[in-house]
Amino acid sequence: MSNKAKGYAAHSADSPLVPFEFERRDLRADDVQIEILYSGVCHSDLHTVHNDWGATQYPVVPGHEIVGRVIAVGDKVKNFKAGDVVGVGCMVDSCRECEPCHEHEEQFCENGVTMTYDSDDRHDGTRTYGGYSNQIIVSEAFVLRVPENLDLSAVPPILCAGVIVWSPLNLYKVGKGSKVAVVGLGGVGHMAVKIAAALGAEVTVLDIAASKEADAKRLGATHFVLSNDPEQLKTVANTFDLVLDIVPVKHDITPFVETLKLKGTLVIIGLIGLAPEFSTVPLMFGRRAVVGTMIGGTKETQEVLDFCGKHNVVSDVEIIKMSEINEAYVRMAKGDVKYRFVIDMQNSF
Ligand SMILES: [Zn+2]
Ligand SMILES: [Zn+2]
Repeated sequence: MSNKAKGYAAHSADSPLVPFEFERRDLRADDVQIEILYSGVCHSDLHTVHNDWGATQYPVVPGHEIVGRVIAVGDKVKNFKAGDVVGVGCMVDSCRECEPCHEHEEQFCENGVTMTYDSDDRHDGTRTYGGYSNQIIVSEAFVLRVPENLDLSAVPPILCAGVIVWSPLNLYKVGKGSKVAVVGLGGVGHMAVKIAAALGAEVTVLDIAASKEADAKRLGATHFVLSNDPEQLKTVANTFDLVLDIVPVKHDITPFVETLKLKGTLVIIGLIGLAPEFSTVPLMFGRRAVVGTMIGGTKETQEVLDFCGKHNVVSDVEIIKMSEINEAYVRMAKGDVKYRFVIDMQNSF
């Protein structure tokens, strides 16, 4: 395969994604060239395409949940060879010198992480283009190993939705005996339920849609609470060690903070940029904490892939072709997907 790539790009905030041909860079000594097999569709893709965060540079080729096969490696690549099944998540480079980078928390790089798409390459200044394409070239330091026992078409969401919940579950040492609440059962929420349950935690789903109860239980939750019903919420007051709040719209988090045990932690995952509302009273009267989190570094991403391989955890996906992406965005914006779209790249071009 040459470095000529086929993909889909958006050229403005209000135009659909359309076919786009471009060139990947020549292989650097530490680069891995990957034929993309499957690419997950994340809400961040939709926000970037629509310029919801105000910083998108067009054309943009989204996609940061990438699973593929290595087809070529640079001279100095040590850990990968042609034929390996690999993944690429939200990041493709960082400064590799600052403290967060040394701790493999590259998402917090003090010099600015290079994202998989809509970023400037830190060596040659070219734009990064993501996984909505048939191939990608990435430094081996940001390439992950994918357990081959898993259904590869259902692996991509682990690289973003999976690690974003793995990171706090890992940081707060969730395991057997832990009680975890997942607020909001969507693409990220369903991975939170599966992974927390596989870690041995007792999982409760809180959602405003009663229709989600059966699915919550199928995915591994033992309890379901209607989150907009104060009476039901009372039954889980002072219950959880950890609450993962995955609600993407502005909301009052006080009722969820009140479900935490003494010294419990609520992690904000879904809400970007908008200030949540909350009362300090349940924080003070229970030494509870409200924290934020953002994806995970390369080490955690490899850990969650390995964990999912061992416990046979994958995402619930709906497979589409690249040409179906615009309809998929419309459906995703309405929450009409169980639970993640994945693009089958091999059958798309
Ligand atoms: Zn994502
Ligand atoms: Zn750094």
